[in-house]
Amino acid sequence: MENQTGPRKNSTVAGATMAIDPACGRKVDKGQSLPVTQYLGQAFYFCSSPCRRQFSKHPEKYLKRLSTGRSDQRAQL
Ligand SMILES: [Zn+2]
Repeated sequence: MENQTGPRKNSTVAGATMAIDPACGRKVDKGQSLPVTQYLGQAFYFCSSPCRRQFSKHPEKYLKRLSTGRSDQRAQL
């Protein structure tokens, strides 16, 4: 009788320590020592340094994708 609240299979608390790598869209764990960068006062976490480098080149491009890509991710592929 514990799993009535939803179809959650994983018991880890997503959202608390997870962040989205804006460069590749992968989920990354903030708890680990990941590459991080500050942009417009916000911290962004990356799965790897190449991703951070990519983001640093065109941060606005990746941020735009992050904010608009939720509803129509498929259209961009
Ligand atoms: Zn990445």
